[in-house]
Amino acid sequence: MENNCIFCKIINNEIPSYTIFENDDVKAFLDISQTTPGHTLVIPKKHRDSLLDFSQEDAKNVFQYIPEIARAIKASNPDIKGINLLNNNGEVAYQSVFHAHIHLIPRYSEQDDFSIHFSENQNHYTPEKYEALAEAIKTQF
Ligand code: AMP
Ligand code: ZN
Repeated sequence: MENNCIFCKIINNEIPSYTIFENDDVKAFLDISQTTPGHTLVIPKKHRDSLLDFSQEDAKNVFQYIPEIARAIKASNPDIKGINLLNNNGEVAYQSVFHAHIHLIPRYSEQDDFSIHFSENQNHYTPEKYEALAEAIKTQF
C-alpha cells in the first residue's frame, strides 16, 4: 500500500466504499460524486500513480474487466443509453487522486450532468504538420 493513498485505503477496507465488483486484480466502486447515477471507478489492486505507470500486464489485469463492468452498469437501469470511459493522468488532465482509476460514466441523455468538449482544429493543420506530429510520437516506442 502506498502511503496515505485514499484508494489503497478503500482496497484495504480502511475507508468504506459502495463496491460493485471485486477480484484479485481490481476493485470497482461508486464514485462519491455520482456525476450521473451509477458513476463508477475501476482501480487496480496494485497501486500505480497513473496509467502512464502501467506495464502491459497491469493493463491486461485492469482493462480485461472493463467491458463486463460496463455491461452490468448498463443492464442495471433501462434509462442508461450509453457509457463514457474516462481516465485522467496528471493534474493538468484533472487527475485529483494519484492511484490510477478509470471512470465509467453512464449517460442518460445529452442533457445529463456530464459533458466533454472536443475542439475542431483541422483548419490549422497541413499534411506536413500532421506528419511531424506523428513522427515525433512514433519514434518514442
Ligand atoms: P480524478 O479527478 O480523475 O482523479 O477522479 C477522482 C475521483 O475520485 C473523483 O471523481 C472523486 O469524486 C472520487 N473520490 C474521491 N474520494 C472518493 C471516495 N472516498 N469514494 C469514492 N470516490 C471518491
Ligand atoms: Zn494507492
